[in-house]
Amino acid sequence: MEAMARPYIAVVLAFLISFLTPYLVGPRLRRQAREELATGVRPRRQWAISGMSITLSIALPFLLLARGSPEAGAVVALAVMGGTAGLLNDILALSRIVLLTMAFAIAAAGVSLGVVISEVKPPFTAQMIQLGGWAIPATMLWVLAVAYAVILLRRLPRLTAGVVAMVSATFAVAALSVGPSGSAAAAGAMGLVMAGGAIGAVRRDYPALGSSAHWAIGFALAGITVIGMLKNTAFLVLGVPLLALGVPVGETTYAVIYRVGRGRQRLALGQRWELLHETLIRTGLDPRRTVLLFHLATFYLCAVALALVLVIQVSFLVKSALLLVSLLVGFALFFMLARIWSEPSGTAEDSVDMLGVPLARIDMDEALARVDQFVEERSPHMVITSDTPSIVRAQDDAEYQEIVRDADMVTADGRGVVWMARVLGLPVSERVSGVDLMEKICERAEEKGYAVYLLGSPPGVAEEAAQTLRSRCPGLRVVGTHHGYFTPEEEPEVVRAIAEAKPDILFVALGAPRQEKWIRRHMSELRVPVALGVGGSLDVLAGRVGRAPPWMQRTGLEWLYRVLQQPKRLPRLWALPRLVWMTLWEALRHR
Ligand code: UDP
Repeated sequence: MEAMARPYIAVVLAFLISFLTPYLVGPRLRRQAREELATGVRPRRQWAISGMSITLSIALPFLLLARGSPEAGAVVALAVMGGTAGLLNDILALSRIVLLTMAFAIAAAGVSLGVVISEVKPPFTAQMIQLGGWAIPATMLWVLAVAYAVILLRRLPRLTAGVVAMVSATFAVAALSVGPSGSAAAAGAMGLVMAGGAIGAVRRDYPALGSSAHWAIGFALAGITVIGMLKNTAFLVLGVPLLALGVPVGETTYAVIYRVGRGRQRLALGQRWELLHETLIRTGLDPRRTVLLFHLATFYLCAVALALVLVIQVSFLVKSALLLVSLLVGFALFFMLARIWSEPSGTAEDSVDMLGVPLARIDMDEALARVDQFVEERSPHMVITSDTPSIVRAQDDAEYQEIVRDADMVTADGRGVVWMARVLGLPVSERVSGVDLMEKICERAEEKGYAVYLLGSPPGVAEEAAQTLRSRCPGLRVVGTHHGYFTPEEEPEVVRAIAEAKPDILFVALGAPRQEKWIRRHMSELRVPVALGVGGSLDVLAGRVGRAPPWMQRTGLEWLYRVLQQPKRLPRLWALPRLVWMTLWEALRHR
């Protein structure tokens, strides 16, 4: 019993040491480093202290964990060598060639100490394949890739501690799930120690983590992954560490692709490469959000890795398929969030072309100013508030698309539309929804003396909506109302009644796209300066349907509220994934 408890006690102790050491000395170092940086001095001393204490907080627990284990010893050696090389860089600001040479030498030393991937288990086979002569180059490549992935994290301040903590914890859980004995368990325990150190380091991430800390962490992590890979199942062998390291590895890969793609085929090793996050920041994503995005991406990858390892007991083939799908979804989400959070670059145009729909780049005030202008011009104008289903419909329905193209103003009705426009790099300022626009137009109408007419919805609703409007805007002139369930025979009479009432503004609530088609068909006979399809707005004004609470409107969840209230709207939700899909497709085509 006592013998069994010992490894667990060691893990807990190791975790505490690695967590507490950086945690306790962190905040002061960070403050000092920030002060020095502010005066233009490289905070060498803080970097050195951080690096040495992190190296120690990795090395001490490892030694405690597995005294006499050559594997743990090798990881400690890697961490110490990495930390020392980083320390030299902190002090001397070495050139990139020198750094690469040192990294190479450390990887080689690790191999000579026994950190070697000697066998792997390829997919669909039960046997391990001996790498033979390839073992050494493969290991070196892997160690360098993992170490550099961590080292490069330094370029995006405040990312290292969080990412390393998540990655190590994921790795630890995955490795420990294999079983409580053997080198996988040792690697798992080491992963926990690393996670502890990284969580402790959160309190001194940027600017107190210098090269020394990054190099120590990078090489220790590389060593742990090699040791943990040896006796795991095929999926664990490559999937987990790769997935969990997806963010930094992805950054490195992107850096290479970016340079080759730009025609700079000669990968000059001494030069600085632009990393993914640097591109994102350069193209308008603010640095804080970039950090958040990378944390989210790491979290997603770690969650996928853990789910595949722990939860889903299926064949390797199914796992691979799930992995592929999750990676594609993750990539799409990452790309969309990056675009949505970026400041769109400006354009001089009044409107942007969103999948064939000319969305006006206006806010509510500007929309109202245009309505004023339309009323002054007296000729018939059509305004459309285009929501997600409406944009999707414009792809399927040629008549509707033509109407939307010819409309005098098309606003983005809903967060989803604004977001997807941003994904396409189109600068649409804000949403101007149908209900909001209608209410504001009525306020404006009261002020300016415009006459309005309400058409649509079941009998009685338009009258109730008119009463609500009159109670809110007592001076508003509602010159007529009519329900929306008239027969084709009654239609000419309805049109004539509206024309005779001579409204300045006609609100039509027949549901899209019926209302837009109806307006277009009768525009010349109606002779109304502004006609606007408002969907279910009369139902809302009449109190028949509630409006979503403000927080739901703000967060783009109004659609959810409406579906919960009127379950018959459920099929319309299909438009949402379709819009996302079409947007992504369009964005990819234009890259
Ligand atoms: N409607 C109507 N005549 C019809 C069909 C519908 O007046 O022949 C009304 C319906 O009662 C509802 C509005 O049009 O008040 C459509 O609202 P919905 O929420 O379905 O439209 P959306 O906001 O999706 O455009």
